[in-house]
Amino acid sequence: RKVIGILALQGAFAEHRTALEKLSCHRRLEVILVKTIEDLSRCDALIIPGGESTTIALLARISGLLDPLRQFVKVKPVWGTCAGAILLSQVVENGKKGGQELLGGMDITIARNGWGSQLESFEAELDVQGLNDPKRPFKGIFIRAPVVLKLHQSSEDHPIQVIAQLASELLPPSFDSSDHSDEPKNFVALRQGLHFLTTFHPELTDDNRFHDYFVRECVLGRS
Ligand code: GLN
Repeated sequence: RKVIGILALQGAFAEHRTALEKLSCHRRLEVILVKTIEDLSRCDALIIPGGESTTIALLARISGLLDPLRQFVKVKPVWGTCAGAILLSQVVENGKKGGQELLGGMDITIARNGWGSQLESFEAELDVQGLNDPKRPFKGIFIRAPVVLKLHQSSEDHPIQVIAQLASELLPPSFDSSDHSDEPKNFVALRQGLHFLTTFHPELTDDNRFHDYFVRECVLGRS
């Protein structure tokens, strides 16, 4: 069985566990909460939940997990949701003054709380490539979500794939993107190599198709 860890320092880790346990393939998985270096060393893959990216990074530093996590990201599959997506990025804008520690993994620039204060939280139906039952839209729940600002030029071995994007008409007017429907800021789910990122919270719905996707594509698919 493959061991999937959920980083459990802060944030919505319990909801990810529930979603994984409902997967039809869950018997092929062992799901553990990761709080220590020993927990992390057992994992074949990791989910970094939503929460507060600065708090998660601080707690990771205090518990000695920051460098082991950076090593982990170099070799094993990681899925970051919301705050976790920020941690998986290479560069963050609107980060904490004085800088914010990241793990890297995805060659992108992301902006914290990038939708602006009047749009702290919203829901949007997403068309998603590669999910089971692709005609059924996925309800994206965005909570002080980050916005992807830029895809860096990635190597041919590890191109960045867009898995879901917001329809332009759903973007806040401040983005003025009526004619830029494939701008990075519309991108809300990305994959690069082993890694997967969603700026919204699939674990807060009872639709576990993103969990199924990560497990199928990034974890079991590699056996
Ligand atoms: N705004 C949070 C951050 O910067 C992320 C919010 C979330 O995970 N729902 O870390």
